Amino acid sequence: MRAWALDKPGPAAAHPLRLVERELPEPRAGQLTARLLACGVCRTDLHLAEGDLPPRRGGVVPGHEVVAEVIALGPACRRFSLGDRVGVPWLASTCGRCHFCLTGKENLCETATFTGWDRDGGYAEAIVANEEYLYSLPDSLGDEKAAPLLCAGIIGYRALRRANLPAGGELGLFGFGGSAHLALQVAVAEGASVHVFTRSEPARQLALSLGAKSAQGPFDRSPVDLDSVVVFAPSGDVVPASLGALARGGRAVLAGIHMSDLAPLSYERHLFGEKELTSVTANTRSDGREFLELAGRIGIEVTTTPYAFEQAGEALADLARGKVRGAGVLLFD
Ligand SMILES: [Zn+2]
Ligand SMILES: [Zn+2]
Repeated sequence: MRAWALDKPGPAAAHPLRLVERELPEPRAGQLTARLLACGVCRTDLHLAEGDLPPRRGGVVPGHEVVAEVIALGPACRRFSLGDRVGVPWLASTCGRCHFCLTGKENLCETATFTGWDRDGGYAEAIVANEEYLYSLPDSLGDEKAAPLLCAGIIGYRALRRANLPAGGELGLFGFGGSAHLALQVAVAEGASVHVFTRSEPARQLALSLGAKSAQGPFDRSPVDLDSVVVFAPSGDVVPASLGALARGGRAVLAGIHMSDLAPLSYERHLFGEKELTSVTANTRSDGREFLELAGRIGIEVTTTPYAFEQAGEALADLARGKVRGAGVLLFD
């Protein structure tokens, strides 16, 4: 099979991934092999390709928003059958024994492994994955539209839950790409008023078309005091602005796996008044199940930019330049 491997990180514009030929992987106990149908291009792939996220092994294949069809079952598989469509997400395994795993916080497991970082991911024609970490996908969504749900969607959902938004509250989203455009729809469906802050004019238009109450630049004044904000942009320079827009007692959630250093905070302007600042680290399997069920129920609209599998390098370069509308997705034929 063909796969895009990362030997040495570098600027996305220089196309650091290399197209290689690999053996079709054999599934071990509890694992299955699946043929790729679509793979979303997440910002985490870009962080990995460019070296912001240090590769955990040489030659790793990125990609963790995988929609694939089961073609081989290892021993002891019980959840899926040959021909089933499955979703392979970021969380690839956890220890199942540590304090975090035993208290519903497996996202914090210190020996968790991740698809497309520790284990080969979906920028390849086939993938091997642990059955217990896979999802069924809403039938209403085709392969291209379902792919971004698997990380962008689930992480956005966890960020939204961690934001503690009161019923009918005012929510701010800073940055508006793959994750934010899905989180916005969940928030709107649940009755929130959503305000979007992003540099990109097309992204502002998309936000308004999906039901945002307002859309403006990241450093523009918020039209209202916000109860909660989620920062999806990977730039620490917008964090003070997001905290400044919060009402007293509000909470700001930083949703990325990597962010540039935070700009200096003023205690009086950015934190006093019992404002809270926190982060999101991966997700639990129950976050994933809850979100995918909800996405099917509210008829979530997924904005995607398709690329052929062979164009993985272009897809990452476009993401680096802020040129992708919604979420980029690699398609396989
Ligand atoms: Zn654990
Ligand atoms: Zn991701």
